[in-house]
Amino acid sequence: MTLRQIGAAAAIAVGRRTALHHLAVGVGAPPAAVRTGKDVAAGPAPERSAATPAAGGAGAASPATATPATAGGRAPTPPAARSASGTSNSRTPSRPTSAPGPDRMMRRRMTAAVAASLLCLAPATAGCTKEPPASGFVPRLGTPAAADRYGARLLEQRRLVQKAAEDLNAYVVLPYRVTVLARSCAGEGTGYDPATRTIELCYDDLAQDRDLFTRGHPLAPDAPPDASPGGAPEAPGAPSAGSAARTGDEVADQIADQVADQVAEVVRETLYHEAGHALAEVRHLRFDDDRAEEDAADRFARLMLLREGPEGEHALLTAARAYDLAAAADPAPDPTDEHAPDAVRAESHRCAVYGAAPARHPDLATPSRATCPTAWPPARDTWTHALDPLLRR
Ligand SMILES: [Zn+2]
Repeated sequence: MTLRQIGAAAAIAVGRRTALHHLAVGVGAPPAAVRTGKDVAAGPAPERSAATPAAGGAGAASPATATPATAGGRAPTPPAARSASGTSNSRTPSRPTSAPGPDRMMRRRMTAAVAASLLCLAPATAGCTKEPPASGFVPRLGTPAAADRYGARLLEQRRLVQKAAEDLNAYVVLPYRVTVLARSCAGEGTGYDPATRTIELCYDDLAQDRDLFTRGHPLAPDAPPDASPGGAPEAPGAPSAGSAARTGDEVADQIADQVADQVAEVVRETLYHEAGHALAEVRHLRFDDDRAEEDAADRFARLMLLREGPEGEHALLTAARAYDLAAAADPAPDPTDEHAPDAVRAESHRCAVYGAAPARHPDLATPSRATCPTAWPPARDTWTHALDPLLRR
């Protein structure tokens, strides 16, 4: 395909995406999120719920039936006057739209750069001449720009894209290929592009999360007090007071190692969120609005991680901490952002973790999370019901 053809294809893709999006909006009655009035009063705005499988029967529950965004523990940062510098995509100075955690937007357009990057990528497991599988989640690693080496290296070393694709393929059988593409995005932002059926994970997102976690690390020079209300996981081998005797380089190395673990966990949550968008498209799920779809994608990420047990629970709590840090860095949510505010997403993650395994997380037990153990199973089951035809038996 020539570049001119790619450009034309991209233009068509934009139109298809718009049509798809319009079809999806405004259909389906949102089930009520399980959330008490007290929670609403005490905490951030609840996640909304709205998705209804288009082909679902009368008993089809919505995959958007929410894990309640119950507020517990420390109160979230209250909204403040919004920064005048904010844009429709910006989120926080440290974690803008291109950051992997808060932003998992449906991409609005396909750029020529994206199309070109699809021409010849180094596939995650073979040379770029290999024909990709016709169906399933297919990992691809694009050649990183010089500035994106941190993210590219971490993804490659830990096989994060490959493993996410493998886990997704072990769970569902797709009727077509969804490419999971890691690439240099020049700040465009991670997202799912339904026109090309591509999950695009931006390398620079990892560097931004690295910076976020590094600044929030307990040993960082200007580390703020722990901003994580209950349940923020300690990085493995978290430093003790004795660590002060170590050299600066040793401490820096320890911070870097722990932060890399955290970034890797956020990547997994991000990829599963985007996979939620892809699967919603496969199943023709309908949503009342963009926010409802984003909430449902978040719940799919929770589903995938919580299926793993303690390891996935840890990853989800790490993602919650990333949202906490982002919210602390910019406590003024962007009113044009279709995602729930960072503080809400963080609390929803924690609620799901606690709800899925309350006995493993007594530290997460707060009065406002009392409903989480009864709220998570139906949230999980509505997704699995919607995915039933795809589930690998
Ligand atoms: Zn999203």
